[in-house]
Amino acid sequence: MKTDIEIAQEATLEPIEEITNELGLTKDDWEPYGHTKAKLSNGLMDKLRDRPDGKVILVTSINPTPAGEGKSTVTVGLGQALAKLGKKALIALREPSLGPVMGLKGGAAGGGYAQVLPMEDINLHFTGDLHAITTANNALAAMIDNHIHRGNKLQIDPRRVEWKRVMDMNDRALRQIVVGLGGPSRGVPREDGFNITVASEIMAILCLATSLKNLKERIANIVIGYTYNEEPVTVKDLEIEGALTLLLKDAFKPNLVQTTENTPAIIHGGPFANIAHGCNSIMATKTAAKLGDYAVTEAGFGADLGAEKFLNIKSRAGNINTSAVVIVATVRALKMHGGIDRDNLKEENVQALKAGMENLKKHMETIDSFGLPFVVAINKFPTDTDAEIDFIKSWCESRDADVALTDVYANGGLGGIDLAKKVIAIAEASVEKFQYVYGTDERLETKIRKVAQNVYGANDIELSAQAKKQLAFYEQQGWGNLPVCMAKTQYSLSDDPALIGRPENFTVTIRELRPSIGAGFIVVLTGNMMTMPGLPEKPAALNMDVDKDGKIKGLF
Ligand code: ADP
Repeated sequence: MKTDIEIAQEATLEPIEEITNELGLTKDDWEPYGHTKAKLSNGLMDKLRDRPDGKVILVTSINPTPAGEGKSTVTVGLGQALAKLGKKALIALREPSLGPVMGLKGGAAGGGYAQVLPMEDINLHFTGDLHAITTANNALAAMIDNHIHRGNKLQIDPRRVEWKRVMDMNDRALRQIVVGLGGPSRGVPREDGFNITVASEIMAILCLATSLKNLKERIANIVIGYTYNEEPVTVKDLEIEGALTLLLKDAFKPNLVQTTENTPAIIHGGPFANIAHGCNSIMATKTAAKLGDYAVTEAGFGADLGAEKFLNIKSRAGNINTSAVVIVATVRALKMHGGIDRDNLKEENVQALKAGMENLKKHMETIDSFGLPFVVAINKFPTDTDAEIDFIKSWCESRDADVALTDVYANGGLGGIDLAKKVIAIAEASVEKFQYVYGTDERLETKIRKVAQNVYGANDIELSAQAKKQLAFYEQQGWGNLPVCMAKTQYSLSDDPALIGRPENFTVTIRELRPSIGAGFIVVLTGNMMTMPGLPEKPAALNMDVDKDGKIKGLF
């Protein structure tokens, strides 16, 4: 089979104007970014506000292998299949970060015949939103250091500045740095560090804001650190919420593109799901729901991470009602959960598969506990055998769970017809039974415990001395009513990446908390999670090239 980039290069894209016409948009609703991309205007959402929402379908998965199990691919393929069945379907996805593109995982624009295009733009700099977010973040960092240097009227304690600089790359060397070295004209020395852009609070804010006004309010509320008296200092105190919002004015507009089959897709925002909340913007999902009968959207990694935060954080902030969930599973990841080494996942092994089903079972229980109907999508790989696929199907059927073999990677929308039909059936029949895992009025510690016990299957949580102190301090500050944004490994249901399958009798270690008051949640760091990843021994970048005519190679 051809590579993703070869398929992408052969696809025939419609001029973006064709897509906007199909969606019934007028000239004021969008502006072109080249021939195949558009920015949707801020006014569009206001115009659509009174329209009823189409059905929102959330695509999640089991705990993945490092390569990913095909959530983006299935999301795109399902959108294409719904379109083939005559539904007005839109797709809402996250924008890829250059960290994983150049590092380990590769692109995040789907795969095979279920891609969003132009994938080379989407996977590289796209419409510049991530650069704008990086700049806004670092403008704030520069203003903080300048404030301290210029007399420090707000009495910011340089040892208690929480705001970090960011860049959109995995760069372990920048995790912990010292700034302001070189004498009085170079600022006040202090310890600092970099996070990856997609873990920044500005990214979360852009994704959770519901209007430009709300974006500015959230930015004003960011707590950048503390004074010598341990009072929180906000962006509002620094009086720069206007400037930072200005830097984001275009990035806040959702991006419209199309798939390999010309289905409309909105790509906007891209927080990671392990160290951030893991969902594309509310603006993207809401716009897709207003414009279509169906909005198919994805939340990162397994249902323990992205879906939990989609439902407990994003849906709360954006008033989003999910009609149905798709849980993507692959034979290879299930065999990994059954104890098979990563190098041997291509060989048939029904016994291992059987053992690995426990991981899928936990995610099914989780989605069920939210009161949402779901379909299991088996994302078919060329190495899967009939015996393995039949096993998963009958396992699901014996538990009365809907299951669909999905081959959108090889066949585009046609490969997702069975899945689409099953999604339509449960979404149409869906009755409002949704419930959150926790209420916002519960104590922060209770919220964390409920996620750990109900979603991860832990016995309990264990708080470090630092986390205990922070919990008490945050509640004292009046931040106790915020949701929690869990930062946890994607490879295991527990906080230990080595515990595959469905671990039991484990405790989740809560190491540290960070307030994201502008975003409207408290980040909870479990295990050894770090907010600046490193590059692997052989980064994906080693395979990439562009020739003298501009032809790209190695972008998956
Ligand atoms: P996720 O969104 O779960 O991280 P992606 O959809 O990005 O996963 O897919 C991860 C990688 O696997 C991509 O490079 C994609 O092209 C590839 N892939 C996905 N589904 C299939 C499939 N059925 N067969 C072969 N490769 C696939």
